[in-house]
Amino acid sequence: QFPFGRRLPCDIYWHGVSFHDNNIFSGQVNKFPGMMETVRKITLSRAMRTMQDLFPLEYNFYPRSWILPEELPLFVAEVRMMKDSNPSWKPTFIVKPDGGCQGDGIYLIKDPSDIRLTGSIQSRPAVVQEYICKPLLVDKLKFDIRLYVLLKSLEPLEIYIAKDGLSRFCTEPYQEPTLKNLHQVFMHLTNYSLNIHSGNFIHSDSVNTGSKRTFSSILCRLSSRGADVKKLWSDIISLVIKTIIALTPELKVYYQSDIPAGKPGPTCFQILGFDILLMKNLKPMLLEVNANPSMRIEHEQELSPGVFENVPSPVDEEVKVAVIRDTLRLVDPQKKKRKDTHLSFHTYLLIFPTQFQSLHAGIAGMKDKQHKHHSLKLSLKLKFYLKLCQSLEQELPDAPRSAEAALPSLCLKQVFPKYAKQFSYLRLVDRVAALFIRFLGVKGTTKLGPTGFRTFIRNCKLSNSNFSMAAVDILYIDITRRWNSMGIDHKDSGMCLQAFVEAFFCLAQKKYKSLPLHEQVASLIELCECRLAALHGRRLVWGCG
Ligand code: ADP
Repeated sequence: QFPFGRRLPCDIYWHGVSFHDNNIFSGQVNKFPGMMETVRKITLSRAMRTMQDLFPLEYNFYPRSWILPEELPLFVAEVRMMKDSNPSWKPTFIVKPDGGCQGDGIYLIKDPSDIRLTGSIQSRPAVVQEYICKPLLVDKLKFDIRLYVLLKSLEPLEIYIAKDGLSRFCTEPYQEPTLKNLHQVFMHLTNYSLNIHSGNFIHSDSVNTGSKRTFSSILCRLSSRGADVKKLWSDIISLVIKTIIALTPELKVYYQSDIPAGKPGPTCFQILGFDILLMKNLKPMLLEVNANPSMRIEHEQELSPGVFENVPSPVDEEVKVAVIRDTLRLVDPQKKKRKDTHLSFHTYLLIFPTQFQSLHAGIAGMKDKQHKHHSLKLSLKLKFYLKLCQSLEQELPDAPRSAEAALPSLCLKQVFPKYAKQFSYLRLVDRVAALFIRFLGVKGTTKLGPTGFRTFIRNCKLSNSNFSMAAVDILYIDITRRWNSMGIDHKDSGMCLQAFVEAFFCLAQKKYKSLPLHEQVASLIELCECRLAALHGRRLVWGCG
């Protein structure tokens, strides 16, 4: 922690909440610019919708969602149409305020007319989503899974998934939603922060009982019931990769804006929390992505009325210590430089002020190892940091190389680029974003001006007698105005990435009429890339000439 400012550059910067330090010119930061905005409920739903439009089957792991208030009429109309075509369909929907967390403001409804249209829906946009009525139950209880995912790099894309996660249980036996039980949060919502207040919440010292368990303990149980756990894992891996593929276009726009290419700046990595619900048939469904998942390894215990104490939580410790330890091992800048005989660990952390001070002091005071050990042991609160120390101290100067072998094997498993081949065809919007970024022009912006859009059309030769430059301007104005009126980001004026994607899809549909959407889009991307490459080639030749 640097309470009075930082003078020396660091290898690793660990920010508590978001990327916020523009004075970093090297090293690695544990947050991506714009990640918080990208995984908000509305933005995530939009990104998933774009992917569902392109690849409906591949992205059917995200519940059908509508954005309120702007899509309320669409929601009402679509539900009515589906009910008309299938009268036995008795859906339930879940309304979740944008930017909310810990179950805050969430409620269930049976009919679109039940949406609470009091002032708050206008001032607080929300997502309304199909409610998954048949979740997998364990001990008659609904539960969800929190999985930790390390986005180690955006370009090239590198993704790791933790082999174990947490399962968070409801505290009332589950019943399918009816008008009578819709409001019972302990039955329908798995949030720890809500269920902890239920009289039925069970803190357990064991990882396979109680209201919070390890995911591996659930897998063991499922496996003993004969479930195909390998297939489940492979479905989860594919859900994670596909979700990150949906998020990368937006992230790249933020990235180039905060860390322009060609200028000195840090690289970024980030631990994400994926919330997943298993359906009765074991299909994993994505609920949400958390940019700032809690890394607490303690829970509060009420000793006497109103008197709370933090006590260690073995389940959290088991999962989270491994995630942080392995993240540090993977991003360790010295790793690349290491010779075979020696290791060194040279990391400054800007996290958890007091605790990491101890860790830092502990590492610095390595000579007096005995003392470090003793002082850290004094407090249970520091158990986590002691564990980290134990992992990291083997990496301190003078420790023999074989110490690496003594560390537990990595809990983070690389899934991308390992499985890149299977998924690369899904990365179409990434390529649209690359075109968008190319024409942004002014460094530091995230929106395309009218001139940039015209240049894109001209350089890619997309205008012709059927599509005049006047029509190009009208397309730009129409789409941009609509997206800006939704009022998510008023920082810059101009066309945001999603608006550009919509315009691009529109152009692709116009040009390649009879193909499925993803083929139309892929064809237009190829055409644009090809024409830009030719133009670039000609410019190089002229430059030489
Ligand atoms: P928050 O960020 O407030 O926790 P979530 O999207 O995670 O919001 O939703 C809270 C809880 O509601 C989830 O943990 C889950 O138990 C339940 N939930 C959310 N979406 C659905 C859904 N589509 N179907 C069934 N249950 C859901």
